[in-house]
Amino acid sequence: MTSVGALEVGVVGCGVAGQAAATLLADAGHRVTVFERFTEPKPSGAGLLLQPTGLAVLRRLGLDEQAEWQGARIDGLLSLNHLKHTVLDLAYGDLHPEAYGLGIHRGTLFGLLHGRLRQSTARVITGAEIVDIVRDGGRATAVEKAGGRHGPFDLVVVADGAHSRLRDRLMPQARAPLYPWGCIWATVADSRDFITAPAMLQQRVRGTTTMMGLLPVGQNQVTLFWSLPVEELEAGRSIDVEAWRMAALDLWPEAAAMIEQAADADNFARATYRHVALPRWNDGPILFIGDAAHGTSPQLGQGANLGLLDAHALSRALAASDDLAAALASFARRRGPPVRFYRQASHLLTPFFQSRQPLLGLVRDALMGVTCRAPGLRPMMTSTLAGLRRGWLSADALDAEGRYPLGS
Ligand SMILES: Cc1cc2nc3c(=O)[nH]c(=O)nc-3n(C[C@H](O)[C@H](O)[C@H](O)COP(=O)(O)OP(=O)(O)OC[C@H]3O[C@@H](n4cnc5c(N)ncnc54)[C@H](O)[C@@H]3O)c2cc1C
Repeated sequence: MTSVGALEVGVVGCGVAGQAAATLLADAGHRVTVFERFTEPKPSGAGLLLQPTGLAVLRRLGLDEQAEWQGARIDGLLSLNHLKHTVLDLAYGDLHPEAYGLGIHRGTLFGLLHGRLRQSTARVITGAEIVDIVRDGGRATAVEKAGGRHGPFDLVVVADGAHSRLRDRLMPQARAPLYPWGCIWATVADSRDFITAPAMLQQRVRGTTTMMGLLPVGQNQVTLFWSLPVEELEAGRSIDVEAWRMAALDLWPEAAAMIEQAADADNFARATYRHVALPRWNDGPILFIGDAAHGTSPQLGQGANLGLLDAHALSRALAASDDLAAALASFARRRGPPVRFYRQASHLLTPFFQSRQPLLGLVRDALMGVTCRAPGLRPMMTSTLAGLRRGWLSADALDAEGRYPLGS
C-alpha cells in the first residue's frame, strides 16, 4: 500500500473532530498545525453519549480505558411519555451481549483528546480565529482575524463546528438552517435512582413541546437536558427557572432530586443545532469534517461519534493512497453514506420530539413503542442508536467481542 507521504496539514478547530484528526494525522507522520479561536481551548456543550463507533476511535487513540473509567456505561435508551407509556426502549445488548454506549462529560472527553493531542507532534496555536482560507494553486493558506497568515498547507481540515463561519465563506452553496428548537442543559450529582443497572439514557416527553433527558456521565454525575424553542434561548433572554422547575417536576416527579439541584444552581447552558448539508466534502485542499460538514439535531446522539469516525477515515484514506485528491475522494465515498443516513434520520425524527405539531406526538406515542418491539424493526432501530447504519438498508456489524471494527 502506498501513501501520500508527509503532508503539511492545517486543522481549524480544537473540538472533538479537529483534535482527533490532528492527533491521528500527526501520529501518521504528517506535519500538523491546529488553530483554535479560544486562548484556552475548552469544551462547549452538554454531556454526551459515545456509541461503539466513537469508542472504537478512542481505542485507536489509546484513550478508551481512561474514558470508560471516567464515564458511565450505558446499556440503552428508555423514553417514556408523561403517562409512562413506552416511546423508545432500546438495548445495546440486542446487538451483542458485550455492547454498550458510554455517557461522558464533555469536559472529560475534551481533556482526554487534548492531552493526547499535546503528546503528539502537532503544533497547537490558540487565540487564532481563522476567518478565511485562501487557495494558492493546489495549496491553501489560513488567514487569521488578527491578520496573520499560516501556511501554505497541502491540506486544511475545517472542523470549526455546526455554526462554522468558514463554511459560509468557503462553501456558499451549503445549507445550514437552525433547528426551531434547542435545549438547556446542566450537569448535576446523580441520585441513586438513575445509576441502577441497567444504566440508561432516559427521556420523558409530553407531546412535542416538552422533553427532558437524563444521561449518566460518570463520576456520579448526570447531564439533564430540557427542550426549548430557539426564541427562548436567545442570548440576553433569561430563563424562568421557577417555571421550569414546576414544569419539570410535573413531567418527571421521580427525577425531583436532580431537578431541584439544577434549579438551585441555576447555571443552565444553552444549545442550538443546525441541519447542515454540504454539496461536497472538500474544495480542492480544503476539507470539512465534523459538525461543520454534517451537523444535525442531537436526537440520535451521533454528532461526536460521526466526527471521530471522520477523523479516523481521513487518516486511513491518506495512508492508503499516493494522491491527495484520490485520498479525499476515497474519504468522501466512505463517509458519505452513513453521514447522509444520520442527517436524514435525525431530521425526520426531530419534529416527533421537538416541534409545534401535536399530531406527531400522538403518532409517536401510538407507534414508536410498538415499532421498538417489532422483530423486523427493532434491530434497525438499535443499530441506528449504536451508530452502525451505513444507510437505510445496510448496517455494519459489531465484531466477536461486541466492538465496532474500525478496519486498519
Ligand atoms: C445538547 C447537545 C447534546 C449532544 N449530545 C450528543 C451525544 O449524546 N452524542 C454525540 O455523539 N453527539 C452529541 N452532540 C453533538 C456533538 O456535541 C457535536 O457533534 C460535536 O461536538 C461536534 O464536534 P466538532 O469537533 O465538529 O465541533 P465543535 O465541538 O463545535 O468544535 C469546534 C471547535 O472549533 C473552534 N472554532 C470555531 N470557529 C473557529 C475559527 N474560525 N477559528 C478557529 N477555531 C474555531 C471552536 O472554538 C471549537 O473548539 C450533542 C450536541 C448538543 C448541542
